[in-house]
Amino acid sequence: MVNSNYEYSQTLLGTTVSLTIHEANEAVAQAVFTTIKILEDKLTVNRPMSEVMSINSAAGKHPVVVSWPVFNLIKQALQISLQPNSYFNCAIGPLVKLWKIGFKGQQVPTDEQIKQHLLLTNPRDIELNRKNHSIFLKRKGMEIDLGAIAKGYIADVIKLVLLKHNIHQAIINLGGNVLTIGDSPLSDDKCWHIGLQKPFSKNQELIGIIKINNSSVVTSGIYERFFYQKNHLYHHILNPQTGYPLDNELDSVTIISKSSLEGDIYSTILYGLGVSKACEYLQNHKSLAAIFLLKNKTIVLANTDNFCFQLLDKQYQIKL
Ligand code: ADP
Ligand code: MG
Repeated sequence: MVNSNYEYSQTLLGTTVSLTIHEANEAVAQAVFTTIKILEDKLTVNRPMSEVMSINSAAGKHPVVVSWPVFNLIKQALQISLQPNSYFNCAIGPLVKLWKIGFKGQQVPTDEQIKQHLLLTNPRDIELNRKNHSIFLKRKGMEIDLGAIAKGYIADVIKLVLLKHNIHQAIINLGGNVLTIGDSPLSDDKCWHIGLQKPFSKNQELIGIIKINNSSVVTSGIYERFFYQKNHLYHHILNPQTGYPLDNELDSVTIISKSSLEGDIYSTILYGLGVSKACEYLQNHKSLAAIFLLKNKTIVLANTDNFCFQLLDKQYQIKL
């Protein structure tokens, strides 16, 4: 066990991104941050220009040829969006922009506005051309939004960058997406210890500690971006069927998986399914593990072979 570690951090992806390795290596840290910047520039929809924005600006007009990473990520996102009754929809952009949750001007739209915008979120209206890597949104006003999965995809790419630089023990935190590589040199149990945040806590209190090796931990929660109107909480994970924020018994879903992209996809999908259907799903998908935080302060753990969980907050009760 070593006692020292080196943490490098920068503000990127609208959050604090940090990399922890156990020997100082400025060159590796720079390679990591540069890769994040390059991918963020391609994938973001929160700035006027990016590859995804150029697809969105050409909606209803013409296809746009994009780089391989953008094409590949949209191809995967589309596959999941097209699954029957999927709670994940990469064409959700017009609704995200309408609600503006977490941004200036956030507001509850009218039912009529929601109905109109829903018409522009059909993933079947996204056309991919595998020959020239072009993407066409068939209706004017459509918008691809990769906000739910961009960080996961980027975390997985960073892992490849670190392995290429011969770093086999590291932890990357992209704010909500934590990816660990190898064992931890920092603790006797060789596990990386990752704090599970208490929903709506103002001073970053933890409910417990997740202990894992060589895995990703991703949390989607209703407390990350939200606002109140007339005592009702509106949060940033939308139901693609209704156009309103998903509403169920859950405060958050944390997924433990091999890749961070999987974690991102399933944290949204399983959040949408709700705890009992999500647990049924996980019984047939043992490579994914999950921690569900319920509003009634119950914690449900699923597929616990893949991780350990240490409860810190005694207000919560664990149900296996
Ligand atoms: P974060 O990690 O940024 O807090 P999530 O990974 O939970 O957020 O994803 C939320 C973001 O995903 C939203 O801000 C929006 O951009 C997008 N989004 C919202 N609802 C959906 C949905 N049903 N399917 C796909 N993307 C969504
Ligand atoms: Mg996500």
